[in-house]
Amino acid sequence: MAQLVRRYLDRILDEHRQVTDGALACYIPELARVDPHGFALSLSSADGFIYECGDAGVEFTIQSISKPFTYALALDQIGQNAVDAKIGVEPSGEAFNEISVDEATKKPKNPMINAGAIAAVSLIPASTPDERFAMIAEFYSACAGRRLELDRDVYSSEKATGSRNRAIAYMLQSFGVLDDDPDDVLDVYFRQCSFNVTSTDLARMAATLARGGVNPLTGRRVTNAAVVKRTLSVMVTCGMYDAAGDWVSAVGMPAKSGVGGGIVAVLPGQLGIGVYSPLLDAKGNSVRGVRLCRSLSEQLGLHFLTVARDSRATLRAVYEPRDGIRVYETHGDLLFSGAEQVARTVERERADFAAVILDVSRVDDIDDTARELLSGISAALRAEGRAGYLVDPAGIVIRNELEYETVRYATVDDAVAAAERDLRA
Ligand code: GLU
Repeated sequence: MAQLVRRYLDRILDEHRQVTDGALACYIPELARVDPHGFALSLSSADGFIYECGDAGVEFTIQSISKPFTYALALDQIGQNAVDAKIGVEPSGEAFNEISVDEATKKPKNPMINAGAIAAVSLIPASTPDERFAMIAEFYSACAGRRLELDRDVYSSEKATGSRNRAIAYMLQSFGVLDDDPDDVLDVYFRQCSFNVTSTDLARMAATLARGGVNPLTGRRVTNAAVVKRTLSVMVTCGMYDAAGDWVSAVGMPAKSGVGGGIVAVLPGQLGIGVYSPLLDAKGNSVRGVRLCRSLSEQLGLHFLTVARDSRATLRAVYEPRDGIRVYETHGDLLFSGAEQVARTVERERADFAAVILDVSRVDDIDDTARELLSGISAALRAEGRAGYLVDPAGIVIRNELEYETVRYATVDDAVAAAERDLRA
């Protein structure tokens, strides 16, 4: 059944394949050498299942997507008050590399612009730059669920050319924001921006935030829920450079982009998303990446301010009224992530039964994606030569029987009778 979801995601990716607008970041010379055509989408469910589309194996540098993670580590290590004493949480409305601090507080306005991100690095408690970097590497890797490595060429390239960030770091020192040597702090900052990741790493890192700080792949608690809440809040208001307002209105997920072409987006409690396409707009966001996220949000109903009436568990009960005939009873409001979970549970367990009955008679509300996925389950089972039945008395999934190849039954008993008949035949 996972292929039903994957097909859906592939279709959304394909809608944007032809987009070639934008330009590679070239102020870091090494970034101008990447393949401009790379295009990838990875999506992690809250329980760690990964869907990959396009060039999900291609590595690129994390760049500014590192910022929320170092900020989270600083919050985790020294607490919110100590972090707030050095870095604000207000959107700046300025470019990411603006050489500025807040006029009144003399602090960087937020941790998602370079000034705030460099300050965040300096707050990681360690006695040497290497020790600080090791803590950052360990934290990012724990979020991704694998050991992340540096792209040394990109690191050297940025270190050799990063005058603007040097200006920012020395300015921060003059305002008393940086206590450590600015060049030492910058060296760690340049290294953290140069971690190689794939869209799947980003999806896993996002899913760790979506799960309140637990990596769904490894089960490890990386940080606590309060840290994640603060980090996601700042990502909502400041994550997409100075296009945060557009992003929140159109896509509606806490997110962070990087000039390497990546975007990480989080749907709290539900999904982690990683996207890659290195051609950028004037603000530094991936052109195709933003459009892809917009379509995902619209088509899968992912905007975090979409008001669903109830978010109780989707599977209410699973039982076997007869040997070999298993009923999956769903309820509540069914959106993409709920339907995805049902599809995958059926797929995982399908060797255990001869016939499956999907009962949607207690579903209150459903969206188009969930409808398509659920109607696809019994059709897909039938296509494999297995038996799938849908109990849908109100026609909530199957509105028009001609549209789908799935028959709907009014009651579980009717479906059981049909299954028994078919199994005997
Ligand atoms: N390393 C880059 C810089 O500091 C990151 C910028 C970005 O991705 O926005 O300029």
